[in-house]
Amino acid sequence: MADVLYLRVDVDGYYGLRLGVRNLLDLFGEYGVRATFFVNMGREPFYLKYISKLKKSSKSKRSFGRHSWWQKLRMLLLPKGIGIANFNLLREIEKRGHEVEPHAWNHADWNLKLKEIDQKRELEFMSTTYEKCFGRKPTGFAPPAFKFNRETLSILQEMGFEYVSLMGKSPEWLNGIWNFPVTYPRTIEEEILMGGPMSLSRIKEHIEASEYASIYIHADWEGIRGIRLLESLLTMVKTDFGTYKELLNSLR
Ligand SMILES: [Zn+2]
Repeated sequence: MADVLYLRVDVDGYYGLRLGVRNLLDLFGEYGVRATFFVNMGREPFYLKYISKLKKSSKSKRSFGRHSWWQKLRMLLLPKGIGIANFNLLREIEKRGHEVEPHAWNHADWNLKLKEIDQKRELEFMSTTYEKCFGRKPTGFAPPAFKFNRETLSILQEMGFEYVSLMGKSPEWLNGIWNFPVTYPRTIEEEILMGGPMSLSRIKEHIEASEYASIYIHADWEGIRGIRLLESLLTMVKTDFGTYKELLNSLR
């Protein structure tokens, strides 16, 4: 069994940050959980721009389906700043003992058209915004939807990032940068959609069977609608929790 569970929280949307993160901070405080939060540093997307691509992507459709019609209307007409407009909240996450790292600048662009975008520009906007908030450069990066290519890794190294969080079995050194992977391929939301509430025990079994274990959740779902299911999982997990930065420090 893994000694430490690395819980990764992806914060993609405005409601995930403003509602989800607040719920998660309270829940984590109650259960002594520490986690690594990866926050979308830019703004909500102009959804109209992506309509044709969204139709093809079931994951994007699902995340848009998380919101009420009122929230959707607000998002369509008035996209709000996420990380960039909530520096105090980001600092608050850190003050509560968690790690905060950036997740993207334009999450929708990265997810839906990685081949067409200027990755360097995206990562620089993201990094500069993070620096304005914390007064230091970010250490780690989790690419939206786990999408990356060779170019991503070399830009991250050039920019001084020390780790990236992809999918995998255990930490690995990728020619100059660590990968601290997520080891379980589905979030609680995805697991429940597949097989009902009993499927939480599959996540628990995975943690118990692994030497290194890391799972991920979305503040936009597990922090809001799925918060009680997340709490059930926390009552089942017997390991300690840690951040990726602590893992990095232990490897230095
Ligand atoms: Zn994301």
